[in-house]
Amino acid sequence: MQKNFICPFCSGQLYLNERIVLSAQKHDGTRGLILLTPELGDYRAIKHPTFKIIAGEHIDFYCPLCHKNLMVERNDKKFTQVTMIETGDEFEVFFSQIAGEKCTYVVGDDYFKAYGEDADENTNFWGVKPNY
Ligand SMILES: [Zn+2]
Repeated sequence: MQKNFICPFCSGQLYLNERIVLSAQKHDGTRGLILLTPELGDYRAIKHPTFKIIAGEHIDFYCPLCHKNLMVERNDKKFTQVTMIETGDEFEVFFSQIAGEKCTYVVGDDYFKAYGEDADENTNFWGVKPNY
C-alpha cells in the first residue's frame, strides 16, 4: 500500500526514502532532524548521535519545509500532527510530543484508531470511537 505523509500546513512531502522527515527542537533550543518510520506504533527514530533525546523530554516538531510548528492541543495534551495519505484517503495522524511516550492516533472521516502501549484506546476526545 502506498503511503504518503504531508505537512498539514504547506502540503509539502515529508516522506522520503520510506521515512518521515521532521525537524525537532528540544526545550533548551537544540535542534535536529528526525526520521520516523511510517509504521504506526513503531517508535524507532533515526537521528544524529549528537542530538540526544532523553525519555520524558518534550520535543517540538516542525515541518522541515515551511517551518511551522506541527503541534496541536487536544484535551490539554500536546500532539504532533501530520497528514497521511493512503490509497487516496486522507487521515490525520497525531503522536505524543513526549519522548518515549508511545501513543499515536489516526483520525479520518468516520475512522479512529489508536496505536502504542500508552495510547488510551477508549479515548473519544475526537468525538469518534474506535472502530475495530
Ligand atoms: Zn509545511
